[in-house]
Amino acid sequence: PLILGIETSCDETGVGLVRGCELLGDEVASSVDQHARFGGVVPEVASRAHLEAMIPTVRRTLDSAGVEKDDIDAVAVTAGPGLAGALLVGVSAAKAYAMALGKPLYGVNHLVGHVAVDQLEHGPLPKPAIALLVSGGHTSLLLVNDLATDVVSLGDTVDDAAGEAYDKVARLLELPYPGGPHIDRAARSGSASALRFPRGKWGDGTYDFSFSGLKTAVARHVEEADRSGSPLVLADIAAAFQDSVVDVLTRKAVDACVENGVRTLVISGGVAANSALRALAEQRCAEAGIELRVPRPRLCTDNGAMIAALGSEVVAAGLPPSPLDLGTDTSLPVSMPLAV
Ligand code: ATP
Ligand code: MG
Ligand code: FE
Repeated sequence: PLILGIETSCDETGVGLVRGCELLGDEVASSVDQHARFGGVVPEVASRAHLEAMIPTVRRTLDSAGVEKDDIDAVAVTAGPGLAGALLVGVSAAKAYAMALGKPLYGVNHLVGHVAVDQLEHGPLPKPAIALLVSGGHTSLLLVNDLATDVVSLGDTVDDAAGEAYDKVARLLELPYPGGPHIDRAARSGSASALRFPRGKWGDGTYDFSFSGLKTAVARHVEEADRSGSPLVLADIAAAFQDSVVDVLTRKAVDACVENGVRTLVISGGVAANSALRALAEQRCAEAGIELRVPRPRLCTDNGAMIAALGSEVVAAGLPPSPLDLGTDTSLPVSMPLAV
């Protein structure tokens, strides 16, 4: 079946077309530039941008895939988690398309979508798999027994998400928003061992994460350098900060695989685009004999294809469609791939 996927949980209006594990169309309109001067996403601005971008983005996706709208067999949409107003635009649009086409509607989980998208790049995900989800709003380790029906959270961040930490530290270093890619780039010419920042919840026997202490340590370092007039070596700070983040992320992800007897690790979400994370995960997975799957960066950040990919799984599992009075859930738990 051909699935239309619609994603509006944050600041990307994403529309995707997927059949099984085959990606047919993927168009994204982002309002990120409108938020940059505020240093973070402004919910009302994002909702308005979704409203304006929705229909043209669906049109572009159909055109680029060479698909007629009547070819669509089902509509999948992000029901949560995300920003309330932003989600509402996507869910309303998806209902309208489903109703107009006379096809079933499936409200699905954005976080599980970030994992499901890997199937478009690497084919069916072995079961079970461990997923490390690292994005702007989330940092979770998941045991994925089945994408459509059985996802278990093993651990989460207790404070900032990994991407949030990147963005906050980038701000301290006066780098533009969103800061992740800028820190990634700056770190390449720095030395990670020039400074030593704390590794939150390292070796505490849980699969939880904490990044607020790290952020505070970077802030103190910057203040101290300001006060003493010593030069700030931005590249070294970026490298040492990044080293602390990716060290803890990869250690706990590999431990989760080993302790659960799982041979496959998927890393997804916007921070999975990070070059240091990819490199260290490759090294540690190879050492532990674990297959590592990381989608290409374009599929790691928010997009509609990930929602269509999860929609495909839900349809293939034979789950019942969502009712047309489907609501949004800003904190939909990861244990619910399909919203009810
Ligand atoms: P969520 O999925 O939790 O709702 P989100 O959808 O806003 O959050 P994504 O779009 O998946 O998050 O990811 C955005 C985050 O990824 C930002 O915090 C950004 O700084 C970070 N990011 C993007 N590229 C990189 C990179 N190369 N290195 C580190 N972080 C990065
Ligand atoms: Mg975004
Ligand atoms: Fe996301």
